[in-house]
Amino acid sequence: MTRAVTRRKALFLALVAIAASASACKKRVGLCARCHMKIADEAHEIEIEWADGNKSQYDSVVCAVYGWQNPSLVSPKRMTVHEYYTGEPRDAAGLVFVQGSDVPSTMGDDYVPVDPANVKKFEADHGGHDMRLGEIKLGARQKDST
Ligand SMILES: [Zn+2]
Repeated sequence: MTRAVTRRKALFLALVAIAASASACKKRVGLCARCHMKIADEAHEIEIEWADGNKSQYDSVVCAVYGWQNPSLVSPKRMTVHEYYTGEPRDAAGLVFVQGSDVPSTMGDDYVPVDPANVKKFEADHGGHDMRLGEIKLGARQKDST
């Protein structure tokens, strides 16, 4: 086999792998991109938009932050979460995340996205302490929950 034929064969196999990967992603709509649990409903869906325009959905802030902090091929561009009080999808960069509250999540101890204007009320009602997205440091158990 010539070198040119080998390269074409390698390119063909790479394209088949990419197509198969894209097909597999389509089958996972409605499942968390990290832990593959079913996303309960749209109000709990968290989305990361990647630099190439693709998007991934997650079932909890812990899973989304893991994806945000450990991108496989492309850098994350934007994370959209549902703000606790309004339920509206918001850019995570404009919110704070409260850890250690009494608000449950599918992944146990999670980070609740709250508008900075409401964080004092939230913490008075539910406890916890707030931080920005870039300040979140996942614990060992949260990193291993795949
Ligand atoms: Zn998950």
